[in-house]
Amino acid sequence: MRLACSCGTILMDQTDNLPNKAHVRPDELDHTYADAIAADAEQIARRHRAAPAAKAEDLLKDDLEMLGMSGVQYERSPYERDQCGRLYIALAGADAFAVYVPETTFRGVLAALHHVDGSAPSNRSDDG
Ligand SMILES: [Zn+2]
Repeated sequence: MRLACSCGTILMDQTDNLPNKAHVRPDELDHTYADAIAADAEQIARRHRAAPAAKAEDLLKDDLEMLGMSGVQYERSPYERDQCGRLYIALAGADAFAVYVPETTFRGVLAALHHVDGSAPSNRSDDG
């Protein structure tokens, strides 16, 4: 995915673990999401009952990875531009984004509290 920001920078999404990307799920789809996970868990249980014991460990590993992706179709991905802080949120069912401009200088709002390398986000500040 390639997204041109109005500040002149380009946002690329070509890898995993992006600090400026998140996944959000509408609250009104909580029950639908839970039902999807329950259906996948039931399918996993059925498959395990029918699987030979020797393959159980590999099968469980694969199935747990699959379970981790359950309900992903109900999620959307917001992106934050590092430079300008604009938030791009994919619109449901459309190939378009809503764009929000920040009123503060906070940046890294979609990043994990600490980056994968253990460092704290360094670009946070408050214009209070
Ligand atoms: Zn920008």
